[in-house]
Amino acid sequence: MTVELISVGTEILLGNIINTNAAYLAEKCAMLGLSCFHQSVVGDNEERLEDTVRLALSRADIVILSGGLGPTKDDLTKEVTAKVFGKELREDTHTKERIQEYFRQVHSNQVTPNNWKQALVPDGAIVVDNHNGTAPGLILEENGKIAILLPGPPNEIKPMFERDIAPYLNRLQPEGIYSKMIKICSIGESKVETMIADLMDTQTNPTIAPYAKTGEVHLRVTAKAADEEAANALIAPVMEELFHRFGDKIYTTEENISLEEAIVRILEEKKLSVTTAESCTGGLLAGRILNVAGASNVYKEGYITYSNDAKERLLKVKRETLMQYGAVSPQTACEMVRGVAEATGADVALSVTGIAGPGGGTKEKPVGLVYVGCYVKGHVRVEEFYFTGNRDKNREYAVARALTLLREELLKYHA
Ligand code: ATP
Ligand code: MG
Repeated sequence: MTVELISVGTEILLGNIINTNAAYLAEKCAMLGLSCFHQSVVGDNEERLEDTVRLALSRADIVILSGGLGPTKDDLTKEVTAKVFGKELREDTHTKERIQEYFRQVHSNQVTPNNWKQALVPDGAIVVDNHNGTAPGLILEENGKIAILLPGPPNEIKPMFERDIAPYLNRLQPEGIYSKMIKICSIGESKVETMIADLMDTQTNPTIAPYAKTGEVHLRVTAKAADEEAANALIAPVMEELFHRFGDKIYTTEENISLEEAIVRILEEKKLSVTTAESCTGGLLAGRILNVAGASNVYKEGYITYSNDAKERLLKVKRETLMQYGAVSPQTACEMVRGVAEATGADVALSVTGIAGPGGGTKEKPVGLVYVGCYVKGHVRVEEFYFTGNRDKNREYAVARALTLLREELLKYHA
């Protein structure tokens, strides 16, 4: 079955709010196995909204509208859709009671007369209770076409969709989309694609889709199947093949596990503490590690040493090293990482020094040149990188590479 999404609201059209509902609904519909070929945004204008609804209904089985169900005059979604379906609006007693109850609980009874507009529903529509607001969701079914009207506020649409709309859509089309994730680091995007080109060319169910992230690549393996068990049977052999090809470059198969979290888990497992000494990344690296819940088990302290003076004073980087090779050099990265391990007593350390830009580059040392040092129990590895982004991107990439390097060294380490 096909579904089309219409986001209603002039605010979205003007870019004042970001259309997160469309992204949310599109992803959910795809997971439910519905094909979505069109999305549109339309302002709070009766005529253009009507045109948009008619067009959507002419080419899709299901049209989902979000927004414009509120109590004010510019909220037109229900009125226009009812008109297109040739339905009158009638007061729904159940909804009226719910609105009254909502105001009793949340707004100490301050119902304004326009709120009762939300109790009007198109004749024959299925009313979906809103547990987080006043405007109910509405489903209109007529001649094989379906319109689903949902409130705009994300904290209302999401719970309503999960609770009532997804099960409704699932009954219409039981076959769903199921997917598994593989997250890869230490291999570039194009290399990953080349390594799976044969699989991508031949597979139709499941499919493999690569997503390039900063310093990592995610592969989503997606199957269309009657239920989860059938999907898993299709997905499992592909996952096995991917494991065979990428081995320990796969850092997780969990949707919500980040690279830094995977690393913190390895550190915990190997009973190692970690620290960081950062120059050009100014704490971003420490920040990413400390984003992980439970990072305090492995990270106690670290340094931001932006100036040469700080590198000398706090990390005991030798003045001669800074003079002879410069702050952005493998020698400095090496002394920084040894120095921070020494200063903090950590088992494992990372250092980052580089030229993030936009200024500060020279011919020999261009913007984007970054050295990362990794120390594991006395052993140091330093890597050189040339990034080609802007200041933000270069810093983000430096952090990603540092984490990747750390993971590689940790996998090699055995107590
Ligand atoms: P209300 O009862 O609040 O008027 P509504 O159903 O009429 O709700 P809108 O008036 O269109 O919805 O939007 C209300 C708010 O919901 C917007 O100000 C915005 O914060 C959020 N919203 C609406 N549409 C979207 C969207 N497509 N993506 C993200 N947020 C949205
Ligand atoms: Mg509104």
